[in-house]
Amino acid sequence: MMRKGKTFILSGPSGVGKSTVLNALMEKRKNLYFSVSATTRAPRPGEIDGVHYHFLDVDTFRDWISRDEFLEYAEYVGNFYGTPKRFVDAAMERGQDVILDIEVQGAIQVTSKRPDTVRIFIAPPSWDELERRLTERGTDSEEKIQKRLLRAKVEFQTAHTYDYFVINDTVEDAVRELDAIMTAEHCKPRDRMEIINGK
Ligand code: ADP
Ligand code: 5GP
Repeated sequence: MMRKGKTFILSGPSGVGKSTVLNALMEKRKNLYFSVSATTRAPRPGEIDGVHYHFLDVDTFRDWISRDEFLEYAEYVGNFYGTPKRFVDAAMERGQDVILDIEVQGAIQVTSKRPDTVRIFIAPPSWDELERRLTERGTDSEEKIQKRLLRAKVEFQTAHTYDYFVINDTVEDAVRELDAIMTAEHCKPRDRMEIINGK
């Protein structure tokens, strides 16, 4: 029986460590496909077009919207972000799991279209630690950091609506929990009905 791919959403404050944790998780789970989003924000040093994001100008982003290219899209601190549908669908057809690193408005859109999506919220051990990580990353101005922190506090109020809640204290622990969640989700009877019915 071909293993079916599942879609997972990882939401959490900017700077909590989503990219860091996902990079480590992808080393462990080779069958996991990272959905590369489109964005109108400028690339950070070291970010590669087509690898970390598809970097688009606003007109091109609007064109993708009008061509129904997005599974979801949202505005976040002055920029657009969206998940291109076709890569997600192609990966799932290949039997891969897909992880979407998206904020909460996008997560709501995906869940309403695809209710079987598994949603994971990742939080920092404290707000002070979040501010420290955002500052140390050195990619955002003080003004942007404050905007992202404010947004983080609003987003945190939706954490209880997610299926899972993980704290990124150490990368190792966060990766272990995410790995366990993904493995457990593949052990649900509803995903093994072919085996159950075949016996
Ligand atoms: P996000 O993708 O959620 O915006 P990043 O992965 O860019 O966050 O991480 C933000 C900063 O925090 C980076 O400088 C990263 O090295 C650091 N970081 C990530 N996880 C941890 C952790 N568990 N402990 C300490 N620092 C971390
Ligand atoms: P950053 O600018 O720090 O890379 O991302 C800012 C926020 O946008 C993060 O919360 C991240 O999860 C979210 N994000 C990244 N890609 C997408 C996307 O395709 N759709 C939505 N809705 N949010 C996204």
